[in-house]
Amino acid sequence: MKTEPEQQDHPVGEEQFHDGVGVSAGIAIGNAHLIETGLRQVPEYRISAELVDEEITRFNQALSRARRQITKLKQKSNALAGAAAEELGLLFDVHAAMLGSTRMIHSVERNIKERQINAEAAVQEMVREIARGFARVKDPYLAARLQDIRDVGSRILRQLTQTPYQAFSVLPAGTVIVADELSPADIALMDPTKVSAFVTALGGADGHTAIMARSMGLPAVLGTQDLLAVARSGQSVIVDGDAGRIVLNPTEATLAEYRRRAEARIRLNRQLARLRSLPALTLDNTVVGLEANIELPRDVNGALKAGAEGIGLLRTEFMFMNRESPPDEEEQYALLRTVVEGMKGRPVTIRTLDIGGDKRTAAMGNSVSHSANPMLGLRAIRFSLKEPKLFEIQLSAILRAGAHGPVRLLLPMISSVHQVRQVRSILKRLVARLRRRNISIADPLPSLGVMIEVPGAALIADSLAQEVEFFAIGTNDLTMYTLAIDRGDEQVAGLYNPLHPAVLRLIQFTVNAAQRAGKPVSICGEIAGDPRFAPLLVGLGVRELSMAPQSIPRVKQRIRALDTGPATRRALAIMDQADEGRVLALLDDFNESH
Ligand code: PEP
Ligand code: MG
Repeated sequence: MKTEPEQQDHPVGEEQFHDGVGVSAGIAIGNAHLIETGLRQVPEYRISAELVDEEITRFNQALSRARRQITKLKQKSNALAGAAAEELGLLFDVHAAMLGSTRMIHSVERNIKERQINAEAAVQEMVREIARGFARVKDPYLAARLQDIRDVGSRILRQLTQTPYQAFSVLPAGTVIVADELSPADIALMDPTKVSAFVTALGGADGHTAIMARSMGLPAVLGTQDLLAVARSGQSVIVDGDAGRIVLNPTEATLAEYRRRAEARIRLNRQLARLRSLPALTLDNTVVGLEANIELPRDVNGALKAGAEGIGLLRTEFMFMNRESPPDEEEQYALLRTVVEGMKGRPVTIRTLDIGGDKRTAAMGNSVSHSANPMLGLRAIRFSLKEPKLFEIQLSAILRAGAHGPVRLLLPMISSVHQVRQVRSILKRLVARLRRRNISIADPLPSLGVMIEVPGAALIADSLAQEVEFFAIGTNDLTMYTLAIDRGDEQVAGLYNPLHPAVLRLIQFTVNAAQRAGKPVSICGEIAGDPRFAPLLVGLGVRELSMAPQSIPRVKQRIRALDTGPATRRALAIMDQADEGRVLALLDDFNESH
């Protein structure tokens, strides 16, 4: 293998190594496909006079998001070496200046106000106006600036429409997507038979983009700003999701080395697949239920193949993505029924809509919060309770899907007992209505559970345990909200740590409260899928883990080699630690010796 490369100006075609954060394991060898920020279809329509102010606000919110994106890209480019940093830095400065230009902003606002057109159309019009002006002056410098203006226009448009990249379906097999930033909705559109991996400049290891990559088994490396500056579409590229490394224009020797590693992985996966029909039983015969986190009905096969005993988390919000309007009750019922029937009698935990935060969709129009802190805004259950019609449609579809197999109902981002009571009263009304209409629904009714993912919910776990039938601990958000670290922001990714004693104490408190009340408690955050954490979680008393299907065999292998006695003793020793580094050391030591 080659040693560390210099990050200098590389002649096109020379082998280059680039590092980022490996967020989804695996090795892919393919051809790069660079995604520009452009859009293909932009909706243009007229708006009524009373919607003008709202439209201007929507434009300004999109502008702020585009500015934040440029600021982050610029910060990352500063870390690069040599000419790449300078060139990219200048480009982002120009874009930032354009996004701040009062002339540009006024032009768009004027278009919205005077011509009563939507914000997207007004941005398009602004770009056209400038292009017309430039066309009159034949100047190569201005011609280059025109491309910048188009890029900036596209960036705002993408923020406005939240349109995912539509072109993924026409890519050749083996494509490696390289982009500034990809949303969870973008990843949902990728066809793993065509896209073999993706690489982005922005994004953290625990955001939903990374989770989607793991769930689809797509190797992914985020935070590789330098690659965008030097890569070209069509170039040969290796993505090493384990090491967080990209090799551009690999030599034959490097290719041979990575092919060998990829084959070793396949052999290991084949060995692990033999565990499929064996139970996740510890050496002292403690049963640990292993379930799958899935996003869409298409994931059911993968869950069954991995040996999932049920679905511990169905993230229904993905059924609302990549579309202009939300699915109606019939469509939701049909999708959920496919999952329930596909799982052939195994329980399916359906979580109600967790939209907001880093999960946005055009289907919800402007209803989802665009606040400065979307993770603290109108997200998940808060959104559902504010939009009772949408919520009732989803709950009815879930109740009806429950007629076809065992279903559990899970509420995201609960922070108070009152929210659970509100949901219970809505459910009561809906059940009565569906029964009156002779529509078949789950019988018995689905058990109702809550995600424990807000520190406040963990701290009232004993009260919540009196209100619900089960808990699912969402350690991804619990870590983010406890430590005040955006799980999708690569700038603070180094501080994000689910092994922080504060997070562990909240987990322990919740598990104990559930045990006292005799209620089942599972963990469905990403730590459940990491075999290194299994001794700690089992040692704390957790007997149900839900994870990306691909993680199930490895976690099962670890559990089958575990004794709960020593695991419990080590978990208690870990709970005495104040320093997260020490927690990891104790865990690593245990994993090496047991
Ligand atoms: C979590 O927060 O841990 C969780 C499982 O939910 P999501 O990742 O969908 O927010
Ligand atoms: Mg969550």
